[in-house]
Amino acid sequence: MNTNLRTLTQPLWIGRIIAAIGAVALLGYPLVSQDTYYQNMIILSLVFAVGAGGLNIITGLAGYVSLGQGAFIGLGGYTIGVLATRFDGVSPWFWVPAAGVVTALVAVLLGLVSLRSRGPSFVIITVAFLFLTQVIAINWVGLTNGTAGLTLPLPSWDRDIINWPFYYALVAVLALQLLMTWWIRRTKFGMGLVAIREDETKAATIGVALPTHKILAFVASSVFVGMAGAVYGYYLTFIDPRGMFSILISVQIVLSLLIGGKATLWGPVIGAFAIEPLNEYANNSLGGGNTRLFLFGGLLMAVVILLPHGVLPAVESFLYRRRTTGKAGLVGARIGTGGSLASLTSYAERVPPPDHGATPAPALLEVSGLRKSFGGLKAVDGCSFTVPEGSITGLIGPNGSGKTTVFNLIDNTIAPDAGVITLAGRRIDTLPSWERAHLGLGRTFQITRLFGEMTVLENVVAAQRSFSWRQLGRIAVSGPEAAAADELLEFVGMRAFRDQKAQALSYGQRKLVELAQILMLDPKIILLDEPAGGINPVLIERMGEMIRELNSYGKTFLIVEHNMPFLLDLCDPIHVLARGSVMASGTPEDIKTDPHVIDAYLGDDFQLEQEAVQ
Ligand code: ADP
Ligand code: MG
Repeated sequence: MNTNLRTLTQPLWIGRIIAAIGAVALLGYPLVSQDTYYQNMIILSLVFAVGAGGLNIITGLAGYVSLGQGAFIGLGGYTIGVLATRFDGVSPWFWVPAAGVVTALVAVLLGLVSLRSRGPSFVIITVAFLFLTQVIAINWVGLTNGTAGLTLPLPSWDRDIINWPFYYALVAVLALQLLMTWWIRRTKFGMGLVAIREDETKAATIGVALPTHKILAFVASSVFVGMAGAVYGYYLTFIDPRGMFSILISVQIVLSLLIGGKATLWGPVIGAFAIEPLNEYANNSLGGGNTRLFLFGGLLMAVVILLPHGVLPAVESFLYRRRTTGKAGLVGARIGTGGSLASLTSYAERVPPPDHGATPAPALLEVSGLRKSFGGLKAVDGCSFTVPEGSITGLIGPNGSGKTTVFNLIDNTIAPDAGVITLAGRRIDTLPSWERAHLGLGRTFQITRLFGEMTVLENVVAAQRSFSWRQLGRIAVSGPEAAAADELLEFVGMRAFRDQKAQALSYGQRKLVELAQILMLDPKIILLDEPAGGINPVLIERMGEMIRELNSYGKTFLIVEHNMPFLLDLCDPIHVLARGSVMASGTPEDIKTDPHVIDAYLGDDFQLEQEAVQ
């Protein structure tokens, strides 16, 4: 039973029937009706559907709101306009794919420029981009003929079927785009995009290469829009900068996506086919111009307030609730006992730790001179320690001593002020988070950071153990990827929850899923930030067993934990952190008896916490 209402991979059967009826009606309409008014309306709706479908990739999946989407339609229109007026003998249709390529290339540029911005500043960049393209179209007179516009060759076919080629070309572009979106949402690439939407910093720590994903998302969100823009330009036969790069086109696209439903497959199509007729109506019967703006503004507000997820998700959730009333939800379900990793081959490989004989194990992770200040507060202040290969190393210290910040610096969730970090002899402190993950660094968060809107399975398969183009295109939600994730979920005892949304899980369940998620990276070293914090005693015991089992397969651990019996039992060596630097290191016995440690840490805090644990 799938409960992920907004997933694109399992549309309800009702949805499939409606989509099939819609497709047949769309394909058959020009054959049964000669009414060019309605044909025109459908052609415009198709253009907006493709525009909104493209926006769905960057906004719906990746979470980056763009108001510049209309520029891609304009770029497509101008590509065909410029080329068709220059190459007389060539059919303008030839330039439609070229428009897709040109638009995608410009989108790559926009992606590169906006890589480091997010939220409102990203929106502003996209608006600026739209105006910039318009200004260029106006002023590059040699290429675009400026404000005088371009007139394309008139269609050469029979007047009776004058609209048909445009109509069916747009249907084909829309179909291709829907296919692409459906496919993307099933791939590792699509998982990466949704992960970026849900929590970009966290996505980077599980190996999602952010720049590549964002730029590819821009390409995917623009290529078919450029082609639709080209067909549209040819259909209009006359294009000018004000018409092709009007911000109203972008607004209508955004509105279509929001009304239909972000991150759904059909939402943008439904939205576009609802908004465009309304737009026509406002133009023809309500006086156009300002009425249209008023209408759009009002609608936008109404949607944001009344249907924050859009029409399609609202309908789906209504149908879903009707279908499943009385079914047990998460509340009664219990965490499984878990299995072993015995059969696991591809992920979390079982390589026993190397035997170093009498010589001490080499350092797998080495941190030296790490520093980080927040304003005047020195959270980490010259912190140095090593984690021997094959060990379960502990890191303890009073609250606020900088343990979590040390983790944040090691995986680049926060940039350090100074310090050297090496992993397996290689300096990693200048690398972005995802490259550290690819080199074998896995890290859980003190307050777990799962992707709430994704299912448990999707959370696990979102992890990328290395970067390759082939991997990005690999199907994530079924096949070997899903099988590996299933096995890891079985190991942590969460297989039964694979199709639940992560946001519905309890605190302890989240910790288990986050562990499975980073195991998907097949990490060399696993950093656990308070794995036993806030979970029940049975689960604490199970957590200890899992850590030992994974360690026997060759995984090295660095564990921050306040539960002293748990930690002293599990870890050797142990480093003690005080005010951001290591004040003592040694075996559990050394630590328990070190007068400085007892004085500084175990003396007061430790006893208090011991009581709290009991
Ligand atoms: P611990 O995990 O050992 O309890 P932390 O590393 O979370 O400690 O915090 C160390 C100190 O740094 C605390 O005083 C905390 O308030 C401060 N700190 C941590 N993160 C930030 C941040 N992002 N901005 C400002 N101060 C922070
Ligand atoms: Mg902490």
